[in-house]
Amino acid sequence: MGRKDREQATWEAEGQGQAPEVCVLCGREAPSMTDHHLIPKSQGRRQGVNLGEIPTVKMCAACQGYLSKTYSNAELANELNTVEAILAREDVQKFVKWVQKQPLTKGVRVH
Ligand SMILES: [Zn+2]
Repeated sequence: MGRKDREQATWEAEGQGQAPEVCVLCGREAPSMTDHHLIPKSQGRRQGVNLGEIPTVKMCAACQGYLSKTYSNAELANELNTVEAILAREDVQKFVKWVQKQPLTKGVRVH
């Protein structure tokens, strides 16, 4: 019983780096999460951005793979550099809906 209280306390600590790692796009707790740089590192370098200052978000391998196959680094850097902008894309929404139905254990192949 006391254990439940502790779990709830953890949830309240969200935003302090205690949040569970879920993908910002599909919301799944995927086993392989990666730090997605909202500005691709090669673009950031070109724009003179300090690589350490590029914001990153947690993204599962499937979603990140989809983005990198679908969009060029320039598009990602200039148009899709926020989670909101990425999620506003209709094709991303379609992908996310699809990927949410896939079992987490299954590798997702993006064509
Ligand atoms: Zn995802």
